[in-house]
Amino acid sequence: MKNMFSVARLAKEQIAPHVREMEKNGRFSDTVLDMLFENGLMGIEIGSEYSGSECNFMTAIVVLEEIAKVDPAVAVLVDIQNTLINSVIMKLGTQDQKERYLPKLATQTAGSFCLSEVSSGTDAFSLKTTAKKEGSAYLINGSKMWISNSDVAGIFLVMANVDPSKGYKGITCFIVDRDSPGLSVGKPEKKLGICASGTCTVNFDNVRVPESNIIGEVGQGYKIAIGFLNEGRIGIAAQMLGLAQGCFDATIPYTLERHQFGQPIFNFQSMQHQIATVATEIECARLLTYNAARLVEQKKPFVKQAAMAKWYAADVAQRTCVKCIDWMGGVGFTKDFIQEKFYRDCKIGSIYEGTYNIQLSTIARHLQQEFKQ
Ligand SMILES: Cc1cc2nc3c(=O)[nH]c(=O)nc-3n(C[C@H](O)[C@H](O)[C@H](O)COP(=O)(O)OP(=O)(O)OC[C@H]3O[C@@H](n4cnc5c(N)ncnc54)[C@H](O)[C@@H]3O)c2cc1C
Repeated sequence: MKNMFSVARLAKEQIAPHVREMEKNGRFSDTVLDMLFENGLMGIEIGSEYSGSECNFMTAIVVLEEIAKVDPAVAVLVDIQNTLINSVIMKLGTQDQKERYLPKLATQTAGSFCLSEVSSGTDAFSLKTTAKKEGSAYLINGSKMWISNSDVAGIFLVMANVDPSKGYKGITCFIVDRDSPGLSVGKPEKKLGICASGTCTVNFDNVRVPESNIIGEVGQGYKIAIGFLNEGRIGIAAQMLGLAQGCFDATIPYTLERHQFGQPIFNFQSMQHQIATVATEIECARLLTYNAARLVEQKKPFVKQAAMAKWYAADVAQRTCVKCIDWMGGVGFTKDFIQEKFYRDCKIGSIYEGTYNIQLSTIARHLQQEFKQ
């Protein structure tokens, strides 16, 4: 894979020109998708024997930050691919699953993570999708909602319950190919932000999946989902961090150029104090995010730190976007400037991969345990 300078340049030169058009069309351009695969950004941690870039988790986090500076919608595609789909198959897949799926994921096929349903969001493990055993296969029935990038995905990781009488202990993780008979993808939702990332319903009507496509063991799906979403949150923190930095970087030059009362608006002390505060908050979000990634790399406990990073980075992204629009004055409120897109895109950071409340509850639960010891 190219170095970070190259990723920043790729984002500026090969993603930025397509951002508005992708948002308007509500889908990624093929040129951008091809560029991501060609430059190894869809298989960052996948080994070279499977045509991946063979880098580490921290690299994935920094790549996400760089891409989100330019387009947070593209960042969520790269995030889910690397921190969820590839990671699950790399760490828990059988040799056969790795050989069949990792080269495709690294070079040509996007993946989607299918957990949420209409009636199970935060309470994810009350999901209703079932997988009934039939010979050496399972028949999946049900419907998944809010599935990011499912408009373009070719591979789906699907959580379905093989034995609802066992509750969450029946949840099992399946790899499902898009062309499986009975699988259909609905129209993308019309969203406030990250519009280029198609968020659709994915329906399963007697979708036959061979037993050999179960990840890990039957009944381990809830553990897989919890474990990998904890890591995935660091990716969302990086997305929000990059978004905040991208919005800030797009705004400061304006405050240096725009004159009022005979001088740049940056010169006013009340402006400087706000700008300095936001810059410091972005740096704090960066340190929290990198620290959580470092703990993952070192195989140390990281769940509390990941929740802190995600909650804080999402909050900082929102504050940064609000402030940047304030600093731009009237033009910040128009669609001629990118700040309004960042403002809309940032809201998702407090919703997916665990809402604000859930991050705070996770942090509190860890604190309670630490103080009880
Ligand atoms: C754009 C987008 C992309 C998404 N992508 C994916 C994807 O790729 N795959 C996937 O599986 N899902 C995806 N999701 C789903 C996302 O993870 C859920 O929307 C999220 O988990 C919240 O669930 P919900 O929408 O059902 O809200 P609810 O669970 O109904 O929550 C509503 C409110 O109640 C609060 N609440 C609920 N329970 C508690 C509690 N115990 N304590 C405190 N507060 C609580 C929440 O914090 C929230 O404020 C996506 C969602 C969106 C909007």
